[in-house]
Order: sequence, then structure tokens, then C-alpha cells
Amino acid sequence: MSEKNCQFQIPRCYDSHAHIHGTGVFLEGLDLTKLRSLKDIRSLSIEKKYFKGDWLVGFGWNQFNWNDEEQSHEETLNNKNYWPNRLDLDRYFPDFPVAFTRIDGHSLWVNTIGLRVLGLLPEIETGNNSIKNEKKKISDINSLDIIFRDERGVPTGILQETAKIAADFFIPDFTREQKKLQMEAALDYFYKRGFTHLREMTGNREVVEVSQEILKNRIHRQYIEFNLVCENVEDLKRVKEDLRYLRSFLSKDIPIRILGVKIFLDGSLGSEGAFLSQNYSNSNLSESGKGVLLWGEQDFKKVVEEVWQEGYEVAVHAIGDEAAHLATLWCYDINEKNKINGRFNLEHAQVLRKDTIEVLKKLNSVCHMQPCHYLSDHSWLFDKLGVLSPYAFQWNQILTNGISLQFGSDSPIESPSVIKNMFALVKAHEAGIKLPPVESSNKLSIQVKIFEFCESFSFEKEWLKFHSHPDPTWGGECTTDFICNQTEKISIRRNL
Ligand SMILES: [Zn+2]
Repeated sequence: MSEKNCQFQIPRCYDSHAHIHGTGVFLEGLDLTKLRSLKDIRSLSIEKKYFKGDWLVGFGWNQFNWNDEEQSHEETLNNKNYWPNRLDLDRYFPDFPVAFTRIDGHSLWVNTIGLRVLGLLPEIETGNNSIKNEKKKISDINSLDIIFRDERGVPTGILQETAKIAADFFIPDFTREQKKLQMEAALDYFYKRGFTHLREMTGNREVVEVSQEILKNRIHRQYIEFNLVCENVEDLKRVKEDLRYLRSFLSKDIPIRILGVKIFLDGSLGSEGAFLSQNYSNSNLSESGKGVLLWGEQDFKKVVEEVWQEGYEVAVHAIGDEAAHLATLWCYDINEKNKINGRFNLEHAQVLRKDTIEVLKKLNSVCHMQPCHYLSDHSWLFDKLGVLSPYAFQWNQILTNGISLQFGSDSPIESPSVIKNMFALVKAHEAGIKLPPVESSNKLSIQVKIFEFCESFSFEKEWLKFHSHPDPTWGGECTTDFICNQTEKISIRRNL
């Protein structure tokens, strides 16, 4: 196909799994993705807007991108096992609490003052008396899996999964004004990338309220769906109240929908927190395990049942094969018992077994996948998965079995880009992962040379439909044009 013909449209261009507010926090916040060594921390310029109360927060570090000769002044670890520690942060930030989130969103790196404020270090002389009066909300979370400790049992400064969530809760929130600026920045960012339709995975009442204010006065029309996070079974009452409140609060002429409730059932593969049916092979951690399951069956079923009874959807973060399997089985049980046929959204579904797909077929289910994860994960993924490798990225099997599939970015973990997802499908195929099936009558291959990857690739136009919002009545007038021009870049034009 010649370049001048290389133009195509996506109706209702949709990112089906995004952390919109999280993206805004990232855009307006302290960017740690560019760190190439621990010493780079020194050159970060710290602005007032990065603070939550007196805590400095930042996002996006990835120790695998660092090449430090001296990796830690506490102990020298080999690169494979390397995690940074609190002392690395204390060098640059000795005076106020610091909490930096890893690129996958599942690990938190905290300095010594931060750990004291959280109640995770004993009260010793700090020269800062105000710390002694802090409540110690998270000191009862002592699982060795999720708080890294040295050989004396002292926390090293890395918190994962439930410990990270507890710490995030403890740290003061952004102000409403900060949140509004973050959401505005995020909506502009998605819009520039062609997305007119967005599905927020980590919504809450205040972010929905702020979004309504923004969309009221916005020139560019964007359609946002929200899922509210339910942290645990005790949180259910609050979530149900928020759902009811938002249902009555939202004005009809603002393009916002409240979909339902999001549950995090496991962690990420990068942190070896995704829950697998087999032990991680070639583990980065000292003891390999199967990952973590963050909910028990009873609590999970109670939440899903009550949410479905209220007429809302459930979205379950399940990356490991066993987490996906259990979520699917539990939802199937609730359905059999109550005949509600509630919508079950399986998020990520990065490792999916055949027996799980068989049960998914019987449910009102949608899989939300982010092919772009393949590009970031493939260098270590199959090492970690071992015998489970053949079950990674099963978009072909999901579709072949008639299950609905939507593509998204998981922004800010990956950058939101339709082209990047298409590129990932092609790259995964080269590594032996089957492509989504395409009906031969609709087959139209598009050749794209993309600056970002400095590579030409061709993809099937059919695959673009996984980036269209499935409901034509929801912003049906929106179309995004993708035009490949002479300078090897993709430009985007929107017809609204
Ligand atoms: Zn996500």
C-alpha cells in the first residue's frame, strides 16, 4: 500500500483499560522513568506540586534500567536480585518522607523517615519529634512477602501489593485542585493520541466529580467510563454508597458513565505478584513462589454478588493464570446460584489457560487486554513463566471461542497508542503467539512505518475494531483518522 493511501479511521477510538487520573498524576508529577542510575536522583528537580501533604511522591522507576556499579551501599547484591533500599533515598532526601512507585504500580520505595511515619521502623532518635505522634495504621501488616526485610528483619524500604496499598492509603491525598489539573492534563494527553473514549479503572467519587466539572466546559468531546475500586470486603459499603451517589449526581448531558467496581485479585508479573498455578521459574526473588492472591473466595463472592445485584459490572484485575481461573470460577458460581448474569470484565488476562476459557465462554464476560505489555515484558516473561509460557497473550483463543475482547494501554504503565498495540501484535506473532483471527472478506493489510520504533510493519485493519468502543450509541459521531505521512510519523485527526 502506498503511503498516500495509508489513512484509516477508527470510530469511537477507545482505550478500554486506562488509569486516567493515574496518567494525570504521572504527567503532572515527578517522573522517575528516566532514571538510569541511583545517582540520577540527585539531578531531579523537585517542585511543590509533586507533594502529597509533606510526602514527596514519584512514579516510574525500574531498577532493570539502571547500571550502577555500586548498587547499594548497604550490601552488594547481584543484578538479578537487585532492589533499591531506603538508604539509597536517604542520601538525597533525609528530611521528609518519600514514596516512589515502581513502573508496574505494584512496588513502593520508601525512605527511612517514610518508613517511620508509616510505623514500620522502631522509634529511634530522629531529631524530628512530630513523627512520634503519627498513627501507625499499617504496622499490623507484617507479611514477609510484601515488606522486604534484611537479615535482621528490618524493612529495607520496598513495600509491595497489600503493603503498598496500605501505605498509599496512609499518605495524604492530593488536594481537589491538584486532582482537577491532573485530570485535565490526562484528557488532553489521550485526546492528542486519538482517544475519544476512555475507561477509567481506578476511579473514585472525587475524580468523577472533578471530571464532570471539566467535561462541562471542554471543547473536545470525550466519553469516560468509570470503575470504582473496592479495596476489600469492608470497603464494599462505602463503594455501594458512592455508586448510588454518583448515579444520582451525574447530569445526563455530560458524557460520563459509571460502570461498576474494580477488584485487584493479584499483582504483576514483573514483581512476581501475579498469581500462577506453578512456581515462578528462574525467580528474581530469593524464594520462588506462585505470586499473591489478594482476595479470599468468600469476600470476593460477597462483593461480586452485591455489585451485580445493584445492576453494576465487576472488573477483576487478574494477570496470572490461576488468579484468572479462580475469578472466572467464582463468578460462574455466583451466576449459577443467583442467575444474575452480571457482566464480568477480566482485566489483563495475560496468562490464560484453556480450562479457564471454557468457563469464560459461559459467562457474560469481556477480556480487556493490552498487547503493548508484550513489548515491555517479553525479555523476561517466558523465563518467569516456564511451563506456563504457551498460555501468555491468548487473544487468538479468546476470540476463537467467541469471547469479547477489547484493547487498551494500561496507561500510565504503557503509553496509550493504537499503533503500539498493533506493533505488539505483530512482534508477539514473530515470537510464536497467534494473531487475532481475521475474517478473510474484511482482510486489509496496512503497511506502517513508525518513527517511535524505527521499523516498518503491516497489520490487519480488522484488528482496529478492538480499539472501537462497542456501543455505537455512546459518542457515535466521534471518529479518529490515522494518517501516515512522509516523515514516518503517525498523525491523528479527529472528526467530531
Ligand atoms: Zn491497570
